[in-house]
Amino acid sequence: MAYTKPETIALHGGSHRADPTAGSVAVPIHQTTSFQFQDTGHASRLFALQELGNIYSRIMNPTCDALETRVAALEGGVAALALGSGQAASTFCVLNLCEAGDNIVSSTNIYGGTWNLFANTLKQFGIEVRFVDPADPAAFRKASDDRTRCWYGETLPNPKLEVFPIAEVAAMGREMGIPLIMDNTAAPIICKPLELGAAVVMHSTTKWIGGHGTSIGGIVIDGGNFDWEAWGDRFPTLNKPDPSYHGAVWTQAVKPLGPIAYIIRMRTCLLRDIGAPMAPFNAFMFIQGLETLPLRVERHNENAVKVAKYLAGHPKVAKVIHPSLATGEAARRAATLKGGYGSLLGFELKAGVEAGKSFIEKLKMFYHVANIGDARSLAIHPATTTHSQLSVEEQAMAGVTPGYVRLSIGIEHIDDILADLEQALA
Ligand code: PLP
Repeated sequence: MAYTKPETIALHGGSHRADPTAGSVAVPIHQTTSFQFQDTGHASRLFALQELGNIYSRIMNPTCDALETRVAALEGGVAALALGSGQAASTFCVLNLCEAGDNIVSSTNIYGGTWNLFANTLKQFGIEVRFVDPADPAAFRKASDDRTRCWYGETLPNPKLEVFPIAEVAAMGREMGIPLIMDNTAAPIICKPLELGAAVVMHSTTKWIGGHGTSIGGIVIDGGNFDWEAWGDRFPTLNKPDPSYHGAVWTQAVKPLGPIAYIIRMRTCLLRDIGAPMAPFNAFMFIQGLETLPLRVERHNENAVKVAKYLAGHPKVAKVIHPSLATGEAARRAATLKGGYGSLLGFELKAGVEAGKSFIEKLKMFYHVANIGDARSLAIHPATTTHSQLSVEEQAMAGVTPGYVRLSIGIEHIDDILADLEQALA
């Protein structure tokens, strides 16, 4: 049965039904490095990709497969690849399309770690990242040339929390043969970027998908909706013979398996060569989180709207940043989210930086941590932590002002959340 509702997909979507050997309903943890071949013919067919199956857990694993197929179903994609972290996922998204000398265009409004990867580390590979403000979707087109391999954005980037114009940017890219890759970490369930025209979606599963704050992981979902072959030279990694696979041309080689050239190439080349797989135990943990994700997201989002209203009416608060309070064009973009506005929220105290730091230290229930998307409520001061490796100019571009406090609202009872904020503000 093909399910369409997120609540059902989260529990029943993907490849796992019951374990064929023991009948386990919960997805078993296949804690094994390697898998017994049936015979030499089977082994060589697997290596030649004539048959899909398990070889070695750096490249594939049945527990990871259960997570991958379920998250792919949830996002409306055709296939997915689980990785060791969200950072590995965003790195692979770009490396899968770019060679030295190529470039990508990225939104300025992205996670600080992604910014560092794009602005500094990718340079070591000869890949240039051009940053543009997504307030003007046309900026993506203006910054592109014939070596531009993809555009990159975040659905609900903190600290600005301005929803990315996915439909507008994706449509422009499709006219030029440039795929849009979206980091949808902060907007699971309430946004489906592939339906809006994005070609690829990634998540740091560390955040809302896990929700329990126990494991680091990432996942890339192939929308199967971008015609890589039609844009020939734009995508050499997918359309030219690959010397590392007997000259296979990925868009041709995987055609019988479906529109999965992008994700198969990521698995068979990047994961094979660079590593960074998700551990089976972590895949199991993320499946536990995923199963209640739609329900948690409802409560997260409901609580966040209440906190935004409360803070907006507080005499010590200068400014509250949450999509539910957006005005003008930002409000129009926020309205593209379905069923909520996310659970990240920012605010500034009238008394400035020192008051912001003191507020965080006075919190009793909120944890002071470098994380978001946990079921527990969390708080941090981005300028001195998550965004501290950025220059002051880069921080300003990303929307990190010195007094900004970031909250990730959890699923506790709203009365307890508000009581903790109240006492810390007092
Ligand atoms: N994308 C976003 C939006 C994030 O917030 C983070 C981490 O905070 C990442 C990617 C990187 O994920 P990870 O920490 O799992 O590597």
